[in-house]
Amino acid sequence: MKLKNLVIGGGITLGAVGLGLAVKSFLPQRFSTASWVKQKERWPRFNIAALPEIEVSFLRCGSITIPELIAVRGAFSLAPRVISHSAVLIRHPQALFLYDTGLSSDIHMYLADQTLFFRKTLANFRLEQSLGSHLTERRIGRSDLGFAVLSHLHWDHVGGIPDIPGVPLRVNRVEYEAAKLGLLDAGHGLVRRLMGDNPVELFDCAGPTYEGFRSSLDLFGDGSVVLVPLPGHTAGNTGMFINRSNGPRVFLLGDATWVSENYMRPATMHPFIWSRVTSDDATARQTLIDLHYYALQHPEVPLIGMHDATLQEQYMRSEKFTQAMTG
Ligand SMILES: [Zn+2]
Repeated sequence: MKLKNLVIGGGITLGAVGLGLAVKSFLPQRFSTASWVKQKERWPRFNIAALPEIEVSFLRCGSITIPELIAVRGAFSLAPRVISHSAVLIRHPQALFLYDTGLSSDIHMYLADQTLFFRKTLANFRLEQSLGSHLTERRIGRSDLGFAVLSHLHWDHVGGIPDIPGVPLRVNRVEYEAAKLGLLDAGHGLVRRLMGDNPVELFDCAGPTYEGFRSSLDLFGDGSVVLVPLPGHTAGNTGMFINRSNGPRVFLLGDATWVSENYMRPATMHPFIWSRVTSDDATARQTLIDLHYYALQHPEVPLIGMHDATLQEQYMRSEKFTQAMTG
């Protein structure tokens, strides 16, 4: 009897602890903000009129709708949030290129041998329009594309590569070296298969600090497209500033965040997701804090994550307006 009581008592205690942990996972989490140091404004000294005209278009390839409390820890809201899978098409005078690649028309075939759990959670999405279809619609052949910069090597960012065979892939060396240790071959080599035989060109963000970020790479040497490391989600997740004369500055974040609340609050995603998609928790949080600080200092700059459907749609609406006014 005693043993039974003990077992029941223990079970109840464990159940209560489990329930407590589950409830806690939805609560907001304190970020230490006491030690944030006010950095000196360090605007790069460029003349906006001297910058080239650059067109930036989000190509949305797929999406899934999730409750807000999954996308933003502590949100207490079941409001639907659309998580998109997108590529960005960038037309610079020196090259037409992509930032990330969205999804190819064959993406479900590539995912067919993945576990049911993976396909029902992280790889659950509705294919809306493949990268290839977006490019065809714009009469862009793969020989027109100079290269694709990959923010990082998760499957849903390299997922459009089968639609652009032969196009060189520019990858942060830190990301590629880390991926060689496991990510490339995980899930029956899903990422390696998606990257196919496309040539890989490694780059280093070895330039000076930029806008408070620790280093940079000026892609064309004209100050218009500048890459900065935003690590933590993966070792080499890389953001891209686009500075141009024909519209506002844009800051693309790769997967450093999902939605704007992640850096505005700041808050991670629900820990169930965050822990599965984040390679280095402490570094990823530091990047969120860096972005939070940058966003507060620069409310005029849209900081857009590659899954942030809301901001991507807002951006495309304002971009059409800006280009109509200036063009
Ligand atoms: Zn990712």
